[in-house]
Amino acid sequence: MKKYTEPAKEINIIGDYEVIIVGGGVSGLTAAIASSRNQAKTLLIERFGFLGGTATASLMNNINGFRNQVEPDNIQTVKGIPQEIILELYKMDGLGKSPYKQKEYDVEKGELSYSYCVDPEKFKYITLKMVKKSNAEILFHTYFSDVIMEENDLKGIIIENKSGRGALFSKVFIDASGDGDVAARAKVPFWQAKPTDIALKDGLMYKISGIKNALFGNCRYGDSSVVWGPANALGQNDAWKISQAEIKTRLRVYANFKLLLRSNPQLREVGAYVAETPSMIGIRQSRFIEGEYKLTADDAISGRRFDDVVAISSCPIIHYYGYRRFLEHEGYDIPYRCLVPKKVDNLLIAGRCISSEQQPYESHRSMAPTMAIGQAAGTAAALCALNNEKPRILDISLLQQTLISQGVELRKS
Ligand SMILES: Cc1cc2nc3c(=O)[nH]c(=O)nc-3n(C[C@H](O)[C@H](O)[C@H](O)COP(=O)(O)OP(=O)(O)OC[C@H]3O[C@@H](n4cnc5c(N)ncnc54)[C@H](O)[C@@H]3O)c2cc1C
Repeated sequence: MKKYTEPAKEINIIGDYEVIIVGGGVSGLTAAIASSRNQAKTLLIERFGFLGGTATASLMNNINGFRNQVEPDNIQTVKGIPQEIILELYKMDGLGKSPYKQKEYDVEKGELSYSYCVDPEKFKYITLKMVKKSNAEILFHTYFSDVIMEENDLKGIIIENKSGRGALFSKVFIDASGDGDVAARAKVPFWQAKPTDIALKDGLMYKISGIKNALFGNCRYGDSSVVWGPANALGQNDAWKISQAEIKTRLRVYANFKLLLRSNPQLREVGAYVAETPSMIGIRQSRFIEGEYKLTADDAISGRRFDDVVAISSCPIIHYYGYRRFLEHEGYDIPYRCLVPKKVDNLLIAGRCISSEQQPYESHRSMAPTMAIGQAAGTAAALCALNNEKPRILDISLLQQTLISQGVELRKS
């Protein structure tokens, strides 16, 4: 490819924080609440004008993974901030019916089932309210574009928005961009699955409304439902490929809806219609950032416990084995080391791109464990910032005690 050398120029320093989080998806917004509640001066940066990422921008409104979908399901493996979000949605009549077979637990008693469908608009509202209440600041419509390094220390980031290009400094950063954009720019090693090895491709969810009393099994709330729409595209983190994936799937929406009406004539009878396509195609996976530990298939399948546990996943491995492989235990631990990138300091990773092999990823990428990982990252970042410590050497027992005291399930009591 031909190259152009961008001339150096002075840019404004627009802020100095203790914790900056890049990406306001489910992991980033949870990290922001956790960091700010733990007294760190926190900024959350997001390229859209609302929170939720895949959950809202891509209309993926089915939050899985609060406990095992099948027995043994005695332990609710995700609590803390993710549970608070579900309870707030419940109070606002923002929960729909999960499309999955599962044992139903009593939300009113604070006991969550495996999975919940949520109203994406109410999800945007509740999560924005919670982040604001935590006192974290939010900078919307802002794109992370580069890193400011001093040797191996991440000192600042460069962002781009309507006001132009600017620099932001912080003691600790969290990469919750889903794609590991910050870590990749900081030259942390990462791996990516070969397109031929990814069984479950990216997909365009879309919303149908007017379904009234028609029986319909997808992610239903009110008289609307989000359906798994055209898929079989792969964008990963390449702008041209993402554009092709958007074009390919968007041009198939109405043909897809026609097929849906054919297989569900009750939807035609009530006059259901396509009400909304998402802001962005749902990207399932791209970079996996290399951390101090990489979760393995065996860890997930055997239900491995780790001394530095900071979250738990009990979700099935959805596709790798060619079938939905349920876990035969109450969940496996996600160790803190999976959030700590190799080589670069002052940085933590949250969300779907933590250090993991493909098989466990297909379990912990579900939104309940992803949020739990976000809470762990936000809490760890705040503790590091307040104690002037690097994430790599953070006192794990302090982090675990803090998480447990704030309602997180780590099976340590
Ligand atoms: C088609 C599909 C179906 C799925 N089905 C389910 C399901 O049924 N149940 C379930 O629980 N999970 C499901 N998942 C998985 C789940 O939705 C994701 O793993 C999870 O939402 C990822 O959250 P995250 O916070 O890690 O990342 P994301 O949701 O990707 O959030 C990243 C955020 O960072 C922002 N961002 C990215 N780059 C930049 C940048 N450079 N500058 C500024 N902001 C940036 C984005 O706008 C976004 O808000 C599905 C995913 C897809 C795509």
